[in-house]
Amino acid sequence: IISLHNVRQIFSGRQVLSIDKLDINHDDIIGLAGPNGSGKSTLLRILAFLDAPSSGTLSFMGAKTSTKPGAVHRQVTLLVQEPYLLKRTVHANVAYGLKVRKKSDITTKVHNALIEVGLDPESFSSRHWFELSGGEAQRVALAARLVLKPKVLLMDEPTASLDAKSATLIRQAALKARTNNGTSLVVASHDLDWLGKVSDRIIHLEHGSIVETS
Ligand code: ATP
Ligand code: MG
Repeated sequence: IISLHNVRQIFSGRQVLSIDKLDINHDDIIGLAGPNGSGKSTLLRILAFLDAPSSGTLSFMGAKTSTKPGAVHRQVTLLVQEPYLLKRTVHANVAYGLKVRKKSDITTKVHNALIEVGLDPESFSSRHWFELSGGEAQRVALAARLVLKPKVLLMDEPTASLDAKSATLIRQAALKARTNNGTSLVVASHDLDWLGKVSDRIIHLEHGSIVETS
């Protein structure tokens, strides 16, 4: 779905990422591991078409692209570590990107997405963004992405602020998105145990380069 070829990212004259080749295929779940500053977030932003690399080629669905093509917008989505929520209710946040007209369909989709991330729709739908803990807000942001059934879901440390039970739920939601919608995932995490349980393969980055794939 997404391919990188000879991609380099240079910030302030310093090369922080150098990937000769990386393919994200349909159904893949790829873990990104590596120490602080090894380039995980930089790579995710490139894969999300949010940052263009300093050099190299990037293709989406077989077509070379430099800027973010329109089709990518809804099909590739990045969940950042401290996600931004609209200053509205949980329901409004999860329903935001949906292009569905019928109100009952929206309600059902939002309901299901909240259950997928382990939030009880009865108690959470009408809550406001400021009535959420960090971990709950993180899961609302994930629900808002899962509801769109993206082709590729990129997650940057999705479990960093979650307890063990919620981290397990996120893992199950990710696996379910693949089973039900064929969503591919790329997940950066420092929790190698969690990463090992969710990923088909783990890419280890050091100083911006892939040093090992396991
Ligand atoms: P962490 O585990 O701490 O999240 P990471 O693997 O995600 O680390 P990146 O955030 O990708 O690492 O950073 C890789 C390198 O790029 C770091 O040395 C960082 O200082 C540098 N870097 C990242 N963003 C920028 C920027 N906008 N301008 C300059 N340097 C940057
Ligand atoms: Mg990072």
